[in-house]
Amino acid sequence: MTPPEPSTPSTPSAPTTPSETDAPDTIEVGLDGHADGWELVVGLEVHVELATATKLFCGCANEFGQEPNTNVCPVCLGLPGALPVLNELVVEYALRVGEAFHFDVPAQSVFARKNYFYPDMPKNFQTSQYDEPICLGGHLDVDGVRITITRAHMEEDTGKTTHVGGGGRIHDADFSLVDYNRAGVPLLEIVSEPDIRSSEQAKAYASELRATLEAIGVSDVKMEEGSMRVDANVSVRRRGSDGFGTRTETKNVNSIRSLGRAIEYERARQIEVLEAGGRVVQETRHWNENDGQTHSMRSKEEAYDYRYFPEPDLVPVAPTPEMRAAVRAAMPELPAARRDRLVAAWAITERDAAALLGTPGLADYAEAAVSALEALEALEALAVDGARGGSPRDIVNWVNGEIAGHLNETGSSPAALSLAPAALAELVGLVAAGTISRNQAKDVLGEALADGRRPARIVTDRGLAQVSDESSLGSVIDGILAANADAVAEYRAGDDKARKKKRGFFMGEAMKALAGQGNPQVLNRLLDEKLEGNG
Ligand code: ADP
Ligand code: MG
Ligand code: ZN
Repeated sequence: MTPPEPSTPSTPSAPTTPSETDAPDTIEVGLDGHADGWELVVGLEVHVELATATKLFCGCANEFGQEPNTNVCPVCLGLPGALPVLNELVVEYALRVGEAFHFDVPAQSVFARKNYFYPDMPKNFQTSQYDEPICLGGHLDVDGVRITITRAHMEEDTGKTTHVGGGGRIHDADFSLVDYNRAGVPLLEIVSEPDIRSSEQAKAYASELRATLEAIGVSDVKMEEGSMRVDANVSVRRRGSDGFGTRTETKNVNSIRSLGRAIEYERARQIEVLEAGGRVVQETRHWNENDGQTHSMRSKEEAYDYRYFPEPDLVPVAPTPEMRAAVRAAMPELPAARRDRLVAAWAITERDAAALLGTPGLADYAEAAVSALEALEALEALAVDGARGGSPRDIVNWVNGEIAGHLNETGSSPAALSLAPAALAELVGLVAAGTISRNQAKDVLGEALADGRRPARIVTDRGLAQVSDESSLGSVIDGILAANADAVAEYRAGDDKARKKKRGFFMGEAMKALAGQGNPQVLNRLLDEKLEGNG
């Protein structure tokens, strides 16, 4: 934390320390530019909670949503004399991250104390890594552009403070509650270089990072629950200039979408400040989802404020070559390879594959549904004339359409859906077999998502099954053509346009007679046959 600043208006921008004086990141800008003349510069700091069973330095459970202050012990409460013991799995997870993002892993890395006081941090320092982190110099390719990742380091999470009363803000709260369950939970902080140039690119980077972390199984990457937290460092500069503008760091961004909005807001705000002749203040800002704005939170701390020093209670971390080799050998398929595989195997578009990988758990869900579809041997038995078997592409259309929409609306996750992947396969099978139309299937899907009944059950319960039987459909059409002899004559005499119109009319009448449950493919074929006079 920064010491209180003198309140005289003339001092805030005056350099107060050597490191501010030689900071390269402030440039002078003209007063008359407008938005097009500006370039956005973004670097992201991502904190990921690791999905280990226990905390970083003690045996307390690492679980979200427990009764407050139940997962605590002398170590994570920082009681005098308690000593930390490093969780080996955290090192393994960090090594997986090292592999996945092509980092250098130095022979040893060192824990450091980052000293500051805050009630949610009972030790009065955070055990983190500073000048010797476990991962250095990695990268992630996003849409063909390489984003350099400066570093990834291990550190412990803090507890959680809840301010009660006064709108939940600390200044006017009646009292505050502290929960130490999260104190000591293992985190990786993954810091990118300021290589990002648009909010779209920032979203794509965060999304690819998240999909990669999900693939290597180190975190459940839930942005809503804070197990992946993205802080956006944003500055702007004149197009064509080499230096960087002064940056702000925006916290409290709870989704990929909000990340884009927060960056766009900051871009516009900073340009406005600069164009009015002002200066951007280097500070930490808070994204407010409700008003869609960032708000000043505190002036930015500098590293020297933290009085970092090597943690005397822990030895340096030196992963053995065996450990690194084992991690390398066990690397799973990463998102880029998975997208390529799905595009090739399922004949879907890159865009569809990217959408599947863009929501945690969605690609797993789709793969499970496709396996279930392939296992649905009954499909062939169900198929009627003209219907083809369901395809992986049908599954993907539902998953990226209705199901993704449902997840967005409810904030649920694919694994928690009451529609199991096998039930989606069943639905696709019912449509492919012509038992229900795609429109009916939408209703069935809605009900299945709401109450968990199997699609086939809903079709039976609601008497939805489509009429595909040729002789019933044929006699309905015969009746309609007989009752509309004039229209049939006009059809036969008409040009293409007139024929098309009449044909639509006959189909409409037939569907009306069948209360919308006629199989459109069979109806179409029978209608053609009969209108051409050979039915
Ligand atoms: P700190 O430890 O104070 O947060 P760092 O030097 O570690 O500072 O940088 C944090 C993040 O800020 C990094 O992701 C980096 O890419 C980004 N960053 C640094 N300078 C700028 C800038 N001028 N504009 C945008 N982002 C920046
Ligand atoms: Mg930082
Ligand atoms: Zn503990």
